[in-house]
Formats: sequence, structure tokens, C-alpha cells
Amino acid sequence: MTANIRIGQGFDIHAHTDDPTRTLILGGVKFPGARPLAGHSDADVVAHSVADALLGAAGLGDIGEHFPDTDPKYKGIDSLTLLREVVDKLHTLGWTVANVDCSLICEEPKIAPAKAAMQKNLSDIVGAPVTVKGRRAEKLGAIGRGEGIACLASALIVKES
Ligand SMILES: [Zn+2]
Repeated sequence: MTANIRIGQGFDIHAHTDDPTRTLILGGVKFPGARPLAGHSDADVVAHSVADALLGAAGLGDIGEHFPDTDPKYKGIDSLTLLREVVDKLHTLGWTVANVDCSLICEEPKIAPAKAAMQKNLSDIVGAPVTVKGRRAEKLGAIGRGEGIACLASALIVKES
């Protein structure tokens, strides 16, 4: 028996907004008082980049094709729900997630205190270890100026055949 192994990469970026009705959510963790992100959904860049990495690994395209931001159904939606749907699609095709690793790039807020909670939220849905590394952009570029938050994710998936 041999195992099929695929790797996928995900990237997402959202701009900050001063919209008082929105809350910053990263990896399913709420950061009350922090500047929120703009977006059609809850703008959870971590959940979105993980979903994109998983879809890419399985050759299923990207998150925008599955959950178009023109569809009112996805307005304000909890992105962990979208991630769960992506994991279900992979399972249907016989894929199991081995692990996902993320680099969350932002000047603020501090990621370390919320890291364990984010990893638990994501790992519970994905059914495999999901690690999140917070890092700053060292004041460089748009993210360094605190204009938004970006996240990169790498995912490994396996299928017995
Ligand atoms: Zn996004």
C-alpha cells in the first residue's frame, strides 16, 4: 500500500477597518478592542489561508471559487464554518490532513497569548495539528505600517491508495 501525499499553500490578507460593528477574529479567537479587519465574511485571515492551503493541496481550486464574496449567503459568516466545509470536501475525496503550519503576519495585536486557543480551534476542525506562528513585518510595507494582517499556510494531506 502506498500513500498519496500532496502539499498546498495558502495566502490571505485583509485591510483593517474602523467599522465599530466588526470584531477582529483570528483563528476563531476574538480580540475585542483590537482594530478589526474588513471583509465580506468575518475576515478571519488564518481560517481563510488554512482553507486555501487545503483546497490547493487537494487540487480543488481556491476559497473564492467555493465561497464567492458576491454571495449574500456568506456575508458575515463564521470562517470556521467555511473551513469545516472545506475539510468535509477533502474527507469526501478520501484525503486526511497530516498537518498545517501558519505564519500570521501583523504588527498588532500580540499573537502569543491567543496562540494556543487558535491552534485548538483550527486543529479540532482540521482533525490534525495546526500550528500558528505570529511574526511582525518589522515596520516594512503596508503590514508594517499596520494597514492590515496577512497569513500564510502550508498544508500536507495524505490518501491511502
Ligand atoms: Zn480572507
